[in-house]
Amino acid sequence: MPTVALARETDWAGWRAAARALVLAGVAPDAVRWRAGGAGDALPAAEGGFGLPRALVDLATLAFQARDPDRFPLLYRLVWRAHAGERVLDLALDPDVDAARALALAVRAEAHRMRTHVRFLRAGGDAGGGGRLIGWYAPAHFVLEASAQLIARRFPDPSWSILTPDGSAHCDGGDLRFGPGVAPPADDAALAALWGERGGELLAGARPGTSVPEAEALEEAPRPPDRPALGPVVRHVPADAALAEASAEAVRCRRCPLWEPATQTVFGEGPPGARLLLVGEQPGDQEDVIGRPFVGPAGQLLDQALEEAGIDRRAVYITNAVKHFKFVRRGKRRIHERPDPAEMHACAFWLDVERVRIAPRLTVLMGATAARSVLGRPVTITRERGRPFELAPGATGFVTVHPSFLLRLPDEAAKAREYRAFVADLREAARIAGGG
Ligand code: SF4
Repeated sequence: MPTVALARETDWAGWRAAARALVLAGVAPDAVRWRAGGAGDALPAAEGGFGLPRALVDLATLAFQARDPDRFPLLYRLVWRAHAGERVLDLALDPDVDAARALALAVRAEAHRMRTHVRFLRAGGDAGGGGRLIGWYAPAHFVLEASAQLIARRFPDPSWSILTPDGSAHCDGGDLRFGPGVAPPADDAALAALWGERGGELLAGARPGTSVPEAEALEEAPRPPDRPALGPVVRHVPADAALAEASAEAVRCRRCPLWEPATQTVFGEGPPGARLLLVGEQPGDQEDVIGRPFVGPAGQLLDQALEEAGIDRRAVYITNAVKHFKFVRRGKRRIHERPDPAEMHACAFWLDVERVRIAPRLTVLMGATAARSVLGRPVTITRERGRPFELAPGATGFVTVHPSFLLRLPDEAAKAREYRAFVADLREAARIAGGG
């Protein structure tokens, strides 16, 4: 069984070249071993080439940065199957695709966390500035290289270095170089001392170039003017031009106080021509970090329910009544708090923009906050659930529970019963939205 030895954990170019050669030589996934570092076997000579769906390449570039040794064979299996003609990303339930998506999600979240959490101290220079900014971060995944590219684009000046246990990134005038990692310093003073002792050596050992591409599905968001000078946020750009413009404006929204403690605005996502619009309450802890609606536990439950109801999430526009995460801190945890009527009213501005632009046949209001935001009055879900009503000429409304309600139920039997009812509501919603 041949062994492929990559130059390092983030040797994306090496992995791609090896995967291409192996596929073309007909080497099946279970007939090859992968490792990072060490010695490997010569690759078979590769003649020709083949294409892969862009979405699969994007998924692989993200999942490749996961700190998981199984990602090399996992991604090779996906490439092998895609080359054989399988439309792997179209499969509703596939363990390989699910595993790759889970890795990609974790990488995206960690890359974002790194870009927003890394803080810098100034080494050298004087009170007037100058010197070099030194940051420390211990990423859960191999996200230094891709994140450093985004940070360098956003902050080419002044000179900065980010040190991690896996490696270091150094930027001077937009010129980015990568070098060895360092052991974790105990505190800022230890970091400053470490830089004083080893900074010159780290800079001298740094080399240009990385094979890890930036995550192309992400775009750096405009930074709100009064945010810290370092710590860019990322956002997804809607396909529709007017919605893209609105989502860029919403990044700077100050209509209510919720923007301040939150990480970023979480705008809705989905195709412009969606017949079905799902409205939830507000982003949760994970959505706030990742910048996308319904990607946390409630989102995963919603995905499962949509699938059981025969609804393709990619065909639905999904958003929240309130675009910033409202929470209280308890220790290290951020505990969700329900938005108040004034906050709902303020944020209805953005929801109205989405509703007008999408103009769905059916709007499903999940939970009391979504229902109140759209209907402008308090709504008792148990009383109004499951009964379609006219929202506007040619547009129907439909009330159901929020998936997080199901997660909070302590009793498994009640949870199963309520989940079935939720799926039944979604099936009915699909029927109405489909015009049946
Ligand atoms: S929650 Fe809505 S209204 Fe309030 S600041 Fe955020 S985007 Fe603006």
